[in-house]
Amino acid sequence: MSNAILETVQNLSESPLADVLGAGLQSPLIDGTPVRYVNLDYAASTPALAQVNDYVQSVLPYYASVHRGAGYASQISTSLYENARRIVRAFVGGREDDAVIFTRNTTDSLNLLAGCLPEDGEVLYLDLEHHANLLPWLDRPHRGLVAADTVEATLAAVEEELASGGISLLAVTGASNVTGEVLPIARFASAAHAHGARIVVDAAQLAPHRRLDLVRDGIDYVAFSGHKLYAPFGAGVLVGRPDWLDEGTPHLAGGGAVKTVKVDSVSWATGPARHEGGSPNVLGAAALAHATEVLAALDAKDWLEHESLLRTSLVEGLAALPGVTVHRIFTDSTDAIGVVNFSVHGYDAGLVAAYLSAEHGVGLRDGKFCAHPLLKRLGLPSGSLRASLGLGSRQDDVDRLLTGLTSLLRNGL
Ligand code: PLP
Repeated sequence: MSNAILETVQNLSESPLADVLGAGLQSPLIDGTPVRYVNLDYAASTPALAQVNDYVQSVLPYYASVHRGAGYASQISTSLYENARRIVRAFVGGREDDAVIFTRNTTDSLNLLAGCLPEDGEVLYLDLEHHANLLPWLDRPHRGLVAADTVEATLAAVEEELASGGISLLAVTGASNVTGEVLPIARFASAAHAHGARIVVDAAQLAPHRRLDLVRDGIDYVAFSGHKLYAPFGAGVLVGRPDWLDEGTPHLAGGGAVKTVKVDSVSWATGPARHEGGSPNVLGAAALAHATEVLAALDAKDWLEHESLLRTSLVEGLAALPGVTVHRIFTDSTDAIGVVNFSVHGYDAGLVAAYLSAEHGVGLRDGKFCAHPLLKRLGLPSGSLRASLGLGSRQDDVDRLLTGLTSLLRNGL
């Protein structure tokens, strides 16, 4: 890997984890001996990049209420906050007039959009979605489609549904949080547009791993979370076309979201302010924006190669273990981020995860990954295991997981 990435990775394993999580978590004790914590749970939340942590410390002294204060600190905070919109818009390759609305997370962003849909028209989504990109649509006219076992057949089914008319929004994930498989969002976008619909991409998993480009891919809206993008400071974002957003139900009614208020009526603001009532999370937004700058400056090709090699080594290592099954949604998907799903025959996923943590210092995720319909369809109603990679991941991490599983298979729990 290039020096820039190595520095990021080294910083990542030095300061933020030690400072934020404390030495205990950094070095779990196995048989009384501290071992390096192997984090294979980046898909849930990522630790702060050292640069993001430093940046937050450097702007903290200027923390103040935005927009409404005339004082020096307020002016600085306001400019940090408004500048964060420009940085994030550039990161996603947004259009000049795209709204950039800061929220709490992806879930919040998609709920916000759900409140802004036109009266007529249904939302179309697939059964493989994270609940964040499924539940917000249930209160609106909607059609949930069971994905086929190939990407091509799924795309054809989506096109058929769009052609039948009445769909105003196609909601699709950029990369599955369960298996890491990447969906061809540009093709979904052109299918939606061909039938007069728009597309929203849930990029909670895609954004930390791939460069987004709304213009290139024809994406109307995108949502993602700072805490999965190495900026765990409580902010998310929705970026996209302003017209629906300017007409929609204000997401958080309150101070700042209005033009004028009378005692029993209101004229709502347009623009991001309409949805950002109350005092916003200035530092969260600034941290998220700074993380996008750090990530954009990394050598994407280097990082992709590194991640892809690690993922292959993980998938091949797991597949070679007797009794371990690696799960995927599609038989023809050609791209995947560093998220791998598997189960160990005869063992409860929760017990395997607890064993790997306690005996091998490996942190991964077990359960249904907020994707109950998909897990059921994959024949995993009681859940499975997920190992996920990020900027700090290295071959030793993969090896430690494989060693842990080998010893489980040999000796039992
Ligand atoms: N969408 C996907 C694909 C996810 O993986 C997640 C979180 O795991 C979410 C949405 C929800 O993200 P958040 O909890 O930050 O709202």
